[in-house]
Amino acid sequence: MSWHGIDGHDAVAEQFRRALERRRLASSFLFVGPAGVGKRAFALKFAQALLCERRPEERLDPCEACPACVQVAAGTHPDLDVVGKPADKSFIPLELLIGDKEHRRREGLCARIGLKPFGGRRKIALIDDADYLNAEGANALLKTLEEPPPRSVLILIGTSPARQLPTIRSRCQLIRFQPLPAEILARLLIEQGVAGSPEEAERLAALGEGSLQRAKQLVQPELGQFRDLLYAELQQGTFNSPRLAQNVARFVEGAGKEASARRQRLHIIVRFATDFYRKRLRTEAAAQQAPDPDRTARRLDCCLETDQQIDRNANQATLIEAWLDTLAAA
Ligand SMILES: [Zn+2]
Repeated sequence: MSWHGIDGHDAVAEQFRRALERRRLASSFLFVGPAGVGKRAFALKFAQALLCERRPEERLDPCEACPACVQVAAGTHPDLDVVGKPADKSFIPLELLIGDKEHRRREGLCARIGLKPFGGRRKIALIDDADYLNAEGANALLKTLEEPPPRSVLILIGTSPARQLPTIRSRCQLIRFQPLPAEILARLLIEQGVAGSPEEAERLAALGEGSLQRAKQLVQPELGQFRDLLYAELQQGTFNSPRLAQNVARFVEGAGKEASARRQRLHIIVRFATDFYRKRLRTEAAAQQAPDPDRTARRLDCCLETDQQIDRNANQATLIEAWLDTLAAA
């Protein structure tokens, strides 16, 4: 069973349906969960259900054929607004939220969500990449969060509540999206032509850790090879960090000239290491005789921190060096 082709999140759909039936839908939501589990697809389908002209919203069952449904699917519905972080920026620019300097509070998402709905039902706004709201951006949203326009729905899509400022966290209803079960991931990989065989689908699904996006990234054979190389180094405990840093930097550059492609690849590598230490921590906990379990925990923390810094850091080479030096010294 999947709700309108959105796999793995029927419980969330049910939660919204009940709220709508009781006419108690909140106006601001923070969607959190791993990247690539379908949060954005869910939000768009939810918007479609709220705006559908043929079926009452409490059914949460968009007809997918009326003009409103078609417009939502095409990204042209006048009552649905979507903003996100531009690829060349490290945060969501203020003007997307409240207009540029000449039009403050008269343009941007916050002004548009305050207008009367064109279709007469609701105004809906999605903020994708909400992990990249800086303090200025979060503050710009405060007024809308504190006094939501009637019948407006604002959805922020991020990965974890910890990455949101308290001003946002405390004013939104938190909706958690779970990682996709491996069998759903494997099926999607086959359906979408990413995996050629059930065996490959299973292997990628296991590595994808609940994220379709991640499983897809791992299809590139060079990534699998690099992961093996990295694991062999980390396995040694005391590795040559300058040499490994050079290898990592070269591999990241191999992703292409685009800064976003390079960042993406570095994310994958840092997450390989994160997985490595997470598994080691589990093994150590099970064995109850680790030489120094704190050391693995410190290394894991360092990987998690580095992962967060990738999008904020212009100098990747320095970041890679600092990361691996810390791991080696831990
Ligand atoms: Zn419809």
